[in-house]
Amino acid sequence: MTETPNLPIVRTVAALRAHTRLWRERGETIALVPTMGALHEGHLSLVRMARVQADRVVASIFVNPKQFGPKEDFAAYPRDERTDADLLAGERCDLMYAPDPAEIYPPGFSTTVSIGALAQVMDGAARPGHFDGVATVVTKLLTQCAPNVAIFGEKDYQQLLVIRRLIKDLDLQIEALGAPIVRAPDGLALSSRNAYLSPAERQIAATLPMVLNEAARSLTGGRTVAETESLARAALSASGFQKVDYVEVRGADDLSRLGPGPLTGPGRLFAAAWLGKTRLIDNLAV
Ligand code: AMP
Repeated sequence: MTETPNLPIVRTVAALRAHTRLWRERGETIALVPTMGALHEGHLSLVRMARVQADRVVASIFVNPKQFGPKEDFAAYPRDERTDADLLAGERCDLMYAPDPAEIYPPGFSTTVSIGALAQVMDGAARPGHFDGVATVVTKLLTQCAPNVAIFGEKDYQQLLVIRRLIKDLDLQIEALGAPIVRAPDGLALSSRNAYLSPAERQIAATLPMVLNEAARSLTGGRTVAETESLARAALSASGFQKVDYVEVRGADDLSRLGPGPLTGPGRLFAAAWLGKTRLIDNLAV
């Protein structure tokens, strides 16, 4: 594709490093925003946070095959590089890194970054291998770009903690910052996968944040964690979600299980549920 004015697009590690080396030589700091493209306001909020955090902003776009299960939506995942480039240019992003797959997984590639307990629960349990794929690709992107900071959305809260863990464990000198969830006016968290929803499913989808908000209120009101989780599950099923993968209250830093009694300190409420072929996730602080 032709380049968007003012937004260079690079597809190789060598070209990426040619830019970042120059910036570092000038003493400029770098923020990286890793994405899988099909950009929306949620992604753009990360780019804006990156703009504030560093002198230079790199956004990566790579639909990572290793984080999709064999029966998941890798082939169908929305891709629109032209629109993504225009949106990034509009946010004064300095560089778009859209690596050729062979730059990430060259022939013979055989290393997996595997995180322990944090990656075994919730999405880790529901999507075997998912966080190995995420941790492996994010480690590559972080080492290729070597930013000062990297920005991730709290929409994927468990992913944010997994990435903080790997940064710490691998001694990467990078700060991982979390950005608040950007929502549609009816409360649904923005997601590239919302494009899969039929109009009827889109209406039902808005009950997910409503159910979580109601559950948060009842936890604050003293209802037990166990009862709140099971009422929220039932409410999601009654709203039309065909399958609820989990509704769980966990510690915000280590994802330790809270409850079954009333909440005694701050935590985070997480849910994942299916509408037809679309899996939605959401979370909020409690
Ligand atoms: P994805 O392209 O879905 O892999 O997401 C790339 C980054 O954008 C991740 O750090 C996500 O957590 C973040 N993100 C996605 N949706 C939202 C949202 N609605 N609000 C905030 N961040 C988001």
